Amino acid sequence: MVSQVECVVECSKADAAVEMQGLYEKFVVPSYRRTLTLTRGEGSYVWDTSGKRYLDMGGGIAVNSLGHAHPAILSTLQKQASRLIHVSNLYYNEPQALLAKKLVELTGPGKVFFCNSGAEANEALYKLARRVGHDQGRYEVITTINSFHGRTLAGIAATGQEKVKKSFEPLMPGFIHVPYNDLAAAEKAIGPKTAAILVEGVQGEGGIIPATPEYLLGLRELTRKHGILLLMDSVQCGFFRSGYFQSYERILENHPGGKDFLPDGISMAKALGGGFPIGAVWIGQPYQDVFQPGSHGTTFGGTPLACAVALEVISVIEREKLVDNIRRQGDRLIAGLKNLSGRENFVSVRGFGAIVGFQTKIDPLILTPQLAGEGLLVIPSGNNSVRFLPPYNITAQQIDEALAIVQKVI
Ligand SMILES: *Cc1c(COP(=O)(O)O)cnc(C)c1O
Repeated sequence: MVSQVECVVECSKADAAVEMQGLYEKFVVPSYRRTLTLTRGEGSYVWDTSGKRYLDMGGGIAVNSLGHAHPAILSTLQKQASRLIHVSNLYYNEPQALLAKKLVELTGPGKVFFCNSGAEANEALYKLARRVGHDQGRYEVITTINSFHGRTLAGIAATGQEKVKKSFEPLMPGFIHVPYNDLAAAEKAIGPKTAAILVEGVQGEGGIIPATPEYLLGLRELTRKHGILLLMDSVQCGFFRSGYFQSYERILENHPGGKDFLPDGISMAKALGGGFPIGAVWIGQPYQDVFQPGSHGTTFGGTPLACAVALEVISVIEREKLVDNIRRQGDRLIAGLKNLSGRENFVSVRGFGAIVGFQTKIDPLILTPQLAGEGLLVIPSGNNSVRFLPPYNITAQQIDEALAIVQKVI
């Protein structure tokens, strides 16, 4: 007898999806509103159980940076897995060292700590802030309203959205929220207990809202003046998605003083592993040795397998000049969306590169299934927005395909 799960893979029948959903109903915690049952992906496309093809511009929520089933990722997975999948952090392993070196070269002088997810990377930032501020009694982290920093207890305390905190009180103390892109509000919030300010370069869950150059430069000046840390959550907007390694580089390009901007700590995850789970925290030089043995750790962080894959993802991005492609296709997508801006249900377009959103008068929770029905996967976001987080090797043709579907549906 074929099991139900095998049936989904082998039979590829429409009723396989129904069977799968039955298993979920019985056995999987219903913490997600799920829609399609996907079985396979290749490049920018995925297929469901009925064989229907979708253009995947959600990218596993900003994860599949090279699309699906990329041959370089497959061969690296195979090669590294046959050599060494996991060793503990009690030992040295080569891919971890090489990936750390690469991330430092791409970011700035400092060191890297590896973990497994975005929330976990942010946890390291909160701990860094507390550890640095400890002897002065500083522990508070200022974050922004509508930010998103993950689902751990500190993550929901840090996140500036009521809906993620609700019913999980008492919340972890030491987090306060101020309006985004409002420098005066940040300054006013700094007090004797403040250890750090944490912002996203682009609020992702909040509706694809980029920071302004003045905000970022102002925060850097402010945090220096008060002797506190400037931390950036680059989990969604980072790792080349903006058309630069970090979104602040894109925001500050051609801006006086922009080239010298560097925060004190940066969290990364999502696109870094191209689909393989990995998180990383870059810590700037002045604080790079704050975490000594016993102060922070992880079992899985920085495994040879995860690091080898992330290194290969970076090498493909560099080899195939995908940063140029991100910029080109991002411009094309934005121009195409702006062309729709006369339409009744259309409000505005935001973002750049491979992180673009448009605000609409249709509820995104209704609009995204309609777009999926026409063969386009995108992701609802805050502020009544729909997000495009395409793979970095998306083609102009695929951008046009997405635009045609959006035009048809709205
Ligand atoms: C997704 C996300 C996180 C959480 O990452 P996980 O890997 O889901 O823990 C944190 N910050 C931002 C900005 C994110 O987009």
